[in-house]
Amino acid sequence: MSSIDSLPPLREVIATHELAAKKSLGQNFLLDLNLTSRIARIPGDLSNASVLEVGPGPGGLTRGLLAEGAGKVLAIEKDSRCLPALAEIAEIWPGRLEVIRADALKLDPLAHLEPPIHVVANLPYNVGTELLVRWLTPESWPPYWSSLTLMFQQEVAERIVAQPGDKAYGRLAVLAQWRCEARIALRLPPEAFTPPPKVHSAVVHLKPRPEPIYPADPEVLSRVVAMAFNQRRKMLRSALKGLGGDVEALLEAAGIAPTERAERVSLERFAALAREVTARGKA
Ligand code: SAM
Repeated sequence: MSSIDSLPPLREVIATHELAAKKSLGQNFLLDLNLTSRIARIPGDLSNASVLEVGPGPGGLTRGLLAEGAGKVLAIEKDSRCLPALAEIAEIWPGRLEVIRADALKLDPLAHLEPPIHVVANLPYNVGTELLVRWLTPESWPPYWSSLTLMFQQEVAERIVAQPGDKAYGRLAVLAQWRCEARIALRLPPEAFTPPPKVHSAVVHLKPRPEPIYPADPEVLSRVVAMAFNQRRKMLRSALKGLGGDVEALLEAAGIAPTERAERVSLERFAALAREVTARGKA
């Protein structure tokens, strides 16, 4: 019997440990171990790497990660009710699973893990976007993580991989794709979860580029893009008025028509615009 088979089925674990899903913690559990193994394989070989898992819950994805050979898994779970179930998993794979009861928004994983670190998580929807933005905006680049494999509501996943002209194209697409390769690796219907959420879900895989695809100062780019998409239906010459000075000249210098709207501007042009803003600041 392989070690994963000696653990009880997840439905039994949930019943034994009374893990009725709490909406306030974004709990929609994955109970199909074939599916969790599929997700665990998305980042590639994990045998010489560490995995940061946020929100392991009853441990379906955690089991998948360990069964697929992850060297070490650090699982951060806010709900103390899940700890006994996770302790059972840790016993099967001695020394390979560390569970910390904490709010992932408040914990520094580098105090517990050494790179290379892959982040794999079926994220609580209420904190997913905030965690993603933090992972995408570290103080220095490349970041400490080697890849992100994250479950989101499908609508958020579409926003991460959207291209100029797509309805979903916005800040999140620019932020993610400027320094990462991003793709949707798997789509899941509500019935894949217990209890089923109201919406479809998707797993996004992000790999950091060694350098941003186009040079720009991260803070300036972020400010310009936020301003541009804040009024996404307006022409950029008015959406970007807050930059002050001759906005039309800035846009033209960046190769963007002043009458263009943010939703049609490529990453390359946004980066050029950020460089123009930086250069003007220095002039
Ligand atoms: N990974 C499990 C699975 O796939 O079945 C559970 C996924 S469930 C969508 C999200 C999990 O994140 C829950 O177990 C929840 O308690 C936990 N969680 C919610 N907010 C959290 C936070 N701020 N920090 C750490 N864990 C959190």
